[in-house]
Amino acid sequence: MTTSLITGGTGFLGSNLCARLLREGRRVICLDNNYTGRMENIAELQGNANFRFVKHDVCAPFDPGEQLDEIYNLACPASPPAYQGRHSIDTTRTCVLGALHMLELAKAHGARILQASTSEVYGEPLEHPQKETYRGNVNPVGIRSCYDEGKRCAESLFFDYHRHEGVSIRVIRIFNTYGPKMDPKDGRVVSNFICQALRGEDITIYGDGSQTRSFCYVDDLIEGMVRMMAVEDETFTGPVNLGNPGEFTIRELADIVLSKVGGDSKLVHCELPSDDPTQRRPDISLAQRVLGWSPRVTLAQGLDTTIQYFQKQITQINRP
Ligand code: UDP
Repeated sequence: MTTSLITGGTGFLGSNLCARLLREGRRVICLDNNYTGRMENIAELQGNANFRFVKHDVCAPFDPGEQLDEIYNLACPASPPAYQGRHSIDTTRTCVLGALHMLELAKAHGARILQASTSEVYGEPLEHPQKETYRGNVNPVGIRSCYDEGKRCAESLFFDYHRHEGVSIRVIRIFNTYGPKMDPKDGRVVSNFICQALRGEDITIYGDGSQTRSFCYVDDLIEGMVRMMAVEDETFTGPVNLGNPGEFTIRELADIVLSKVGGDSKLVHCELPSDDPTQRRPDISLAQRVLGWSPRVTLAQGLDTTIQYFQKQITQINRP
């Protein structure tokens, strides 16, 4: 039986990945310090004999006490309000020390390791859409740099461990993703807009709402991630972009969410955070060619499922 270690396993993507791998009959070790992860995301997995949760901070080395076949390194606060706020220094520590410790673990076990990198490595992109060959335009001292530069440093560590230590690496760059198991308090645009609309609160558009993002449904993203891990060609390390190339302005997203949820929320404009990228859209031709992967779920379909999920979350929160 294949044993997979997933760091950041109680987070949004991590918990969806744990569930997916357990469905495939893998043994799954889920690691998290729950900075931003939530135990409720793995509640339904806890009874599975092939599942083990360990509360651990990847900034310290980890001994799983059993042989590992693969490691998915997802640990890191990923929402801008989380990493720009009280977790900023922890974010750099998690990116860099976490990658270092997990790479050492992969080396010791002869395990393949996948790094969940990010479209943030492209910063404020001067190339559009973004190809993997684009080297980015990142502010190294801005409020996003703990995440952007942390993830860039992690990529660099992965490639040095591959070149010098022979570690089998796979690197993906994840573009904006949404879906069930997101934290309603996460602060990202999809969760904010849906929860605000469901509660009848104002919809907070940062800036004039003309900035764009491309939104990928979580099941599509997890499929791409698993395919990338399964690539047997050791020369194919990535980085590979994973995301949905459908591009929307934030204003368009607000209109779509409002038209689906209904209610009488108003659109209000708030200050645009500094270094907020103006546009973002993945070029996914590499993933299409090598992984045979393309997203299948449209924004309209994915939002329906996500709205249902948040409706349940909000009802739970409001329950006395
Ligand atoms: N955003 C917004 N209102 C919100 C949250 C976010 O207008 O309540 C904007 C944010 O400024 C950015 C985009 O939506 O331009 C996506 O933000 P998010 O935090 O979801 O992810 P990012 O792509 O910035 O990491």
